[in-house]
Amino acid sequence: MRTITIQPKALTHNLNQVKKLAPHSKILAMVKSNAYGHGVAAILPALQQADGIGVATLTEAFEARQLGWNKTIGLVEGAFTADEWQQAIEHDIGCVIHHKPQLEWALDNIPPADSASRVVWIKYNTGMNRLGFNAEGVITAAKRLHEAGYQLILATHFANADDHDHPLNAMQIQRFTDVLNTLKEDISADIKGSLCNSAGIVNFSAHHHDWVRPGIILYGSSPVIDKSAHELDLQPVMSFSAQIIALQTVSANDAIGYGSSWTAQQDTKTALVSVGYGDGYPRVVNADAYVTVIDADSNQGYRCSVIGRVAMDMIVIDVSALSEDIALLNSKVILWGDAPRVDEVATHADTLSYELLCRLSIRPKRIVDPL
Ligand SMILES: *Cc1c(COP(=O)(O)O)cnc(C)c1O
Repeated sequence: MRTITIQPKALTHNLNQVKKLAPHSKILAMVKSNAYGHGVAAILPALQQADGIGVATLTEAFEARQLGWNKTIGLVEGAFTADEWQQAIEHDIGCVIHHKPQLEWALDNIPPADSASRVVWIKYNTGMNRLGFNAEGVITAAKRLHEAGYQLILATHFANADDHDHPLNAMQIQRFTDVLNTLKEDISADIKGSLCNSAGIVNFSAHHHDWVRPGIILYGSSPVIDKSAHELDLQPVMSFSAQIIALQTVSANDAIGYGSSWTAQQDTKTALVSVGYGDGYPRVVNADAYVTVIDADSNQGYRCSVIGRVAMDMIVIDVSALSEDIALLNSKVILWGDAPRVDEVATHADTLSYELLCRLSIRPKRIVDPL
């Protein structure tokens, strides 16, 4: 059976790792895109020690409220229309304000004094050049919002925080710090700051400010290019598995699968595994791609290469090195989890763990382990 198993305990562990890295900051745990593919309902109970959650759409925010999340919700792209701004107020959602139309909606329609929507995340474009005001615009907007009774968090987003030495990081930090100091001096010392995603939390510990915004690190994947999830003591929250559905021996010089892209150099024992791109396993992987076959008796794992093209419903693996009582019909096969980690699969597929996690299909069965 194709199965996605979620371990909420691992998420709690990773959240505690973030707390150790950023002990003086509040935590806005990012749960956008269905909690990076893990399922919001599955992971919210493990986030009770977070100070808030971050989402990208109002629908995601409503879902979290419906599931009983009654703490802070930050809407990272803000409202898309004046009507959405009104709906955000009705659900006590804290919006990002990143451009003039959102500023005007906020000034025209001020939430009640006790509403959580009185806190806004005002976005400063420090070099990502997607969302946000420039330095002058952010100062003007902050003044007007402050006068209208809003509490402000100055926010920006790193473009290259995964690479500690990228020159834009120092520039973004400098611009952010300068404007935050200006706002504190000229408007209010109460104005807060939020700069760091997961990679920023790991790489820039001197710049955590009031709120950090961890995403991928919570799910157990490394956010930085020079340290593995293992080195950061992160636990994988998701385990993606399937099973062996047939065994074969392919003769030397015979090719396997669509396009006959892989040819056996010698007689090769193969196993068919019931997973493919129709489940969310990447269609294109390189020769390093492997899975782990689990021996049901000892629970021990054996590494096997993925050979031939990944199809919609199946892959082929090389089980030549395994004894016949290990590679059995119905043996469990780990696509990602403890080994390989999703980060390794992402490398084999020339993409990021983020994408692999978010693009899983609805076909695999989902299991949530107890917290
Ligand atoms: C998604 C997101 C994050 C989290 O990013 P990670 O790289 O997953 O830690 C932080 N801040 C904003 C604004 C985001 O949209």
